[in-house]
Amino acid sequence: MKKHNFSAGPSILPEVTIKNTAEAVVNFAGTGLSVMEVSHRGKEFTAVMEQANKLFKELLEVPAGYEVVFLGGGASMQFCMVPYNLLSKKAAYLNTGTWASKAIKEAKFFGEVVEVASSKDKNYNYIPRDFDIPSDVDYLHITTNNTIYGTEIRKDMDVKVPLVADMSSDIFSRPLDVSKYAIIYGGAQKNLAPAGLAFALVREDVLGKVDRPIPTMLNYKTHIDGGSMFNTPPVLPVFAALQTLNWLKSNGGLKEMEKRNIRKADILYSEIDRNRLFKGTVQNVDDRSIMNICFVMNDDYQDLNAEFLEFATAQGMVGIKGHRSVGGFRASVYNALPEESVKALVDVMQQFEKKH
Ligand SMILES: *Cc1c(COP(=O)(O)O)cnc(C)c1O
Repeated sequence: MKKHNFSAGPSILPEVTIKNTAEAVVNFAGTGLSVMEVSHRGKEFTAVMEQANKLFKELLEVPAGYEVVFLGGGASMQFCMVPYNLLSKKAAYLNTGTWASKAIKEAKFFGEVVEVASSKDKNYNYIPRDFDIPSDVDYLHITTNNTIYGTEIRKDMDVKVPLVADMSSDIFSRPLDVSKYAIIYGGAQKNLAPAGLAFALVREDVLGKVDRPIPTMLNYKTHIDGGSMFNTPPVLPVFAALQTLNWLKSNGGLKEMEKRNIRKADILYSEIDRNRLFKGTVQNVDDRSIMNICFVMNDDYQDLNAEFLEFATAQGMVGIKGHRSVGGFRASVYNALPEESVKALVDVMQQFEKKH
């Protein structure tokens, strides 16, 4: 039976990414050797890193003054690297969920943290609006897509302080105005590559302003100067990332991705809103994520939760169990998930409605 992969992360990748990576594990760039067993400084892998760097910038139309680095440590490492490199005295954070809270916790090791707003009062089911940002903060940190709660900030924010964004789960889902951001970072395992890789797109003029010494490996400058090759990079995930970047380009780039993603999200949200058995957890339509779609059984049907999960799983739906802090269901509909899979899930929901 065909599997429809709605996993939240690690998650679905383009078929071509998996196929090309599998091939490179056996025979990399015609070397007759695995990508895992040759020097990262050899000409074959250096070319991979250079192309990944170039395509990353090309797809996002990155203006001059920015550099992208590929690092280990996941997005969680960035929670400390950002304040280590940028926070002199005070930083502002928007608390929109678990990941934002974790970023806040790390920032507090380095200075004062102002939580400008929080949606914790309603289990993070909305994006706070109309908050004040102190003018004397070193930066404002936001999480553009809240993977667990299914909320998303899809408009590039206009703020007067440097803007830092965790885009782990919505990078490359839409075109961005990169010029509005000082740093964009994320883990690769949701929309780009297998786990083990993080990316950070850094506007260089925000660096070098803190007085504290920064350990070499945690200093963005080290990795910018080293072209992400200061030490051995995660070669396999970088190779896979390049395959996904190529796939994005050959599929029409980020405008086309956004179009497809909006269409997929519309199909599923429409069914959630229509089907009497279900309801969405995010009520404000503008706050609804187009990457992670959260829904629960409607009030009168709470006892059907386990039955629906079993019913859907039996029909090939994978990874739709909601995060334990929200419950219910979560369908992650990342770039690589075909519309066909969304339609298959809608069909399962309609069958289940008929059954009850
Ligand atoms: C998954 C996720 C993280 C954590 O990523 P790791 O690479 O596991 O550290 C951080 N932020 C967001 C928004 C995420 O979705």
